[in-house]
Amino acid sequence: MRALQLIGPGIIELRDVDVPTIASDEVLVRVAGAGLCHSDLHMLHAPINRPPLTLGHETAGWVETVGADVDGFTAGDPVLVYLVWACGQCRSCLEGRDNSCEVAGGRATLPPCPGLGPAGGMAEHIAVKARFLEPLGTLDPVLAGPLADAALTSHHAIAGAMHRLGSGTTAVVIGLGGLGHTGLQILAALSEARLIGVDLDQEKLDYAAAHGATDTFLSDESTAGKILDITNGYGADAVFDFTGVQATVDLAVNCIAPDGALRFVGLGGGTLQYGALPWSTLPWGVDLRKSYAGTRADQRAVIELAAAGKITLETKQYDLEDGLAAFDDLAAGRLLGRAILVPSH
Ligand code: NAD
Ligand code: ZN
Repeated sequence: MRALQLIGPGIIELRDVDVPTIASDEVLVRVAGAGLCHSDLHMLHAPINRPPLTLGHETAGWVETVGADVDGFTAGDPVLVYLVWACGQCRSCLEGRDNSCEVAGGRATLPPCPGLGPAGGMAEHIAVKARFLEPLGTLDPVLAGPLADAALTSHHAIAGAMHRLGSGTTAVVIGLGGLGHTGLQILAALSEARLIGVDLDQEKLDYAAAHGATDTFLSDESTAGKILDITNGYGADAVFDFTGVQATVDLAVNCIAPDGALRFVGLGGGTLQYGALPWSTLPWGVDLRKSYAGTRADQRAVIELAAAGKITLETKQYDLEDGLAAFDDLAAGRLLGRAILVPSH
């Protein structure tokens, strides 16, 4: 089968590889579509030599064959591949924090994620333990892949900040790309907050305005001041940084309100310096989370939101063969929403 593989730093190639064989607790999924995440770009440029890796952690498809011990799935079922391959047994997993699994992950590492360790979904097939599959019901698997990360991850960041998103509050979404355009819709669906969208791209701001943002700002050094101006100088009750470059980390810190929920999701390489001083930039009471992916409950929640029509992924489809063009478009910021790679079976 064909698979888009990371070969070495900066090099991806479409290669012929064996169709995976499945263990008795696994399912062979025929890939319908695999989303392309900015994390794939970070992986592409990481200075790490590793064996060839099939990328793709936003995968949906149809069940093709099931292992001997698998119940509950039959050929043709549309499924989403949950990306947190946690142990399911440790204290964190049992408490519903499987994205912080103690056994499959740990303090400094993450549970295995397809496309970032095990072979991912930018291929014609993927082998997945049955317990990491979520039924998609009536949702189209060609388009559903980004529910496994863009929606899952933004939902997790938002779900942990709901206590700051009640009536009269303000939330800022920085970076309206794959994660942010979904996060904005999740905020519109779940919260009563007034929503502010921030990006470098006017088209993305226009999209945000059409999907629940009451205010939008191009991102520059004046943006924090503008957000303070429209919040009586107090700041925003929740700020979600879906970009994580230095400019957006600074913006987030400079517009968060006292007691605000500061959520860092983007991995753009920015740093935050904390000053343990009464007059430091961070207002009193701010709580900060370095948010990773999402829990199984987040996964179910976003599938339900999508099925109810409350969130819609903006997608552009590319043949798997044209995967490199999709990488180029994402890197150049030419995409609105998410690119999806579709293998022609
Ligand atoms: P994307 O490229 O689709 O979107 C990034 C957006 O940020 C774009 O719209 C871009 O215009 C905007 N942007 C860039 N610089 C900006 C600035 N200075 N001010 C405001 N906006 C700016 O990327 P994505 O796939 O949505 O991923 C976003 C980030 O989240 C990446 O760093 C990715 O690696 C990370 N990520 C983290 C997790 C996690 O679990 N923490 C999961 C998935 C992705
Ligand atoms: Zn991702």
